[in-house]
Amino acid sequence: MGIVVGRRGRTLSERDPEVAGILAAESHRRHTTLQLIAAENYTSPAVLEALASPLADKYAEGYPGNRFHGGCAYADLAERTAVERAQDLFGAAHVNVQPHSGSAAVLAAYAALLRPGDPVLALGLAYGGHLTHGSPANFSGRWFRFTGYGVDAESGLLDYEQVRALARATKPKAVVCGSIAYPRHIDHAAFREIADEAGAYLIVDAAHPIGLVAGGAAPSPVPYADVVCATTHKVLRGPRGGMLLCTEELAERIDRAVFPFTQGGAPMNVVAAKAVAFGEAATPAYARYAHRTVANARAMAEQLAEEGLHVTTGGTDTHLITADPAPLGGLDGRAARDLLGAAGMVLDTSALPHDSRGIRLGTAAVTTLGMGEEEARTIASLVGRALRGDVDGARAGARELAEAFPPPYPDPHG
Ligand SMILES: *Cc1c(COP(=O)(O)O)cnc(C)c1O
Repeated sequence: MGIVVGRRGRTLSERDPEVAGILAAESHRRHTTLQLIAAENYTSPAVLEALASPLADKYAEGYPGNRFHGGCAYADLAERTAVERAQDLFGAAHVNVQPHSGSAAVLAAYAALLRPGDPVLALGLAYGGHLTHGSPANFSGRWFRFTGYGVDAESGLLDYEQVRALARATKPKAVVCGSIAYPRHIDHAAFREIADEAGAYLIVDAAHPIGLVAGGAAPSPVPYADVVCATTHKVLRGPRGGMLLCTEELAERIDRAVFPFTQGGAPMNVVAAKAVAFGEAATPAYARYAHRTVANARAMAEQLAEEGLHVTTGGTDTHLITADPAPLGGLDGRAARDLLGAAGMVLDTSALPHDSRGIRLGTAAVTTLGMGEEEARTIASLVGRALRGDVDGARAGARELAEAFPPPYPDPHG
């Protein structure tokens, strides 16, 4: 009878005012505060359209041409398009676009290359390693024997000699590089050499910088890594999800590790939306955005230092900045994050090189909204203003800036 889904002309707010109200409030929040979470972005209207498409309802377990379900002709086309676009974009021999998330991609990479109990070398969590890099609260820490390398306490930079020494001492089956907090480019060639010497696989978890790589604003890990794990929703600006890039040699193992080993069917609307995002990322406009994101982060880092924060490594090569707010006002990372949140600047805490917590900011989202270096400096001075105690003044400034650069959808409370 089509009683529930079939009624025409009824909007979400008419059908379900409760959830519609929640979504409207979230939209309003975006219109009135600054999104500085380094992992977040604004997906384009085209990506959102693909997410809300009929493929949202399609089951397509397996891979194109080899599905467990009927009716997959267009699901197959969507997935093939996503894979081919990602291969072109990243120059990767093989791509799997099915991982549900960045963590799911890392899980599949481990499943493809490792056995439970194998030794693995990765950046320690206290230095910006991700949960999937050996946290005892995560499958990775439970199933593998992780050793963590660090960063230099003074410079905040990776110490490749320490990594090499630890690789010699622990003989890992895989070396993992990639971080949630490292603001500089990673020397993939150095990691490749270290992995080769240890007879280990090199897994690059490029969840954050992959979007810069797509725009030519960061060096590509693809020529060096056995497997690259990535997300599609951070700088890359696509739907929330993961992907894997690997050599031809590992293609079959990676595919089997994703499905059927760690996942069932992939959400095909998300796969289609990934294809849209890869198409967008192949344009000159996207390359300009990626470079601008880095330029904005550099300007923001410079101004944060000017305000009196201690910026880790003295700046950034990427979209990401970590800083110690303590020199200005004495707050630790958590207190600073809460204070800045109250001032309309939404950001995270972060590991700092010497075992304390600071704040982490990113410029991908505000750059998508059209902000440039001037606005990046303004945001940094608003951070300074709030940390010096003028929360009301900072909040007014943040709101004014947010309203001048609105998200690509209307403010329901505007
Ligand atoms: C974001 C991130 C992940 C996980 O991504 P999810 O989609 O949240 O699972 C994994 N590794 C690194 C380095 C990340 O930055």
